[in-house]
Amino acid sequence: MDNRHLQLKIIGACVCITVAIALFFLFKPKPDESTTPEHLSLICTNDKCGSDITVSRNEYINLVKQSGYTGAFPNQILLTCSKCGQKSVRVCEKCIKCGKLFLLSYGNKDYPDRCPQCDYSKMEQRFK
Ligand SMILES: [Zn+2]
Ligand SMILES: [Zn+2]
Repeated sequence: MDNRHLQLKIIGACVCITVAIALFFLFKPKPDESTTPEHLSLICTNDKCGSDITVSRNEYINLVKQSGYTGAFPNQILLTCSKCGQKSVRVCEKCIKCGKLFLLSYGNKDYPDRCPQCDYSKMEQRFK
């Protein structure tokens, strides 16, 4: 076998391996995505509407993009409600104990995710 032919074969094999590795990393889920929930609960704060909406993380990212918000705390902005069309939708917490949907309350000394119905707080459990 002539040398040139062999060299081409080796280069070809190297390229194949590189592409395989690149594809592997491209489609591998990022570690921070696996620890965040797949779905988010949103609630419309418009009294006349009050819909609760469950969206996937991607849908939520799209909603935030549509609103034009680029800051670091998208969970504190109001998004447009798909039901009533008002800018009144906020991310809310779903209590894993009793299933109650409620808004996180920042600003007080208590954990923001304490359920108003049964007093359960995921954060409290985590930091105990
Ligand atoms: Zn609404
Ligand atoms: Zn609860």
